[in-house]
Amino acid sequence: MNKFLVFDMDGTIADLYGVDGWLDDIHARDAHPYAEARPLVDMEKLNDILNQLKEFGWYIVVTSWLAKGSTKAYDTAVRKAKREWLEAFGFPYDEIHLVKYGTTKADCTRKYGGRQVLFDDNAKVRNGWHLGEAIDATEMMEYLATLL
Ligand SMILES: [Mg+2]
Repeated sequence: MNKFLVFDMDGTIADLYGVDGWLDDIHARDAHPYAEARPLVDMEKLNDILNQLKEFGWYIVVTSWLAKGSTKAYDTAVRKAKREWLEAFGFPYDEIHLVKYGTTKADCTRKYGGRQVLFDDNAKVRNGWHLGEAIDATEMMEYLATLL
């Protein structure tokens, strides 16, 4: 069976909302808050767990929204910042979907079927997930440990 772990970024692994002035910067189409966001968890620990889970056949996906009310140029800048952030912290993903704000996340990976566990800080997004469990960001590390 296909097994997927699907990660949100902002508010789940990246503390975008903890960056000073993040909303003003986003309104000004400045991608810096995405680059400057600190990790919300110990990334070394998270990566270690994910690398173990990959050996057990889990496939790691990032599905993250772009900025609300964005432009093409700003989307490009935000995509670059998000990819660089993941790279900087060595996040071991297999696949990435950086999609328009509000996109139904299940649409990105539904075609794969199997069991798909979503980690997301947004309750509305979690409630709209029907491909497997939907776990709140605050319970992410605990939940992952149960899969080992
Ligand atoms: Mg989020």
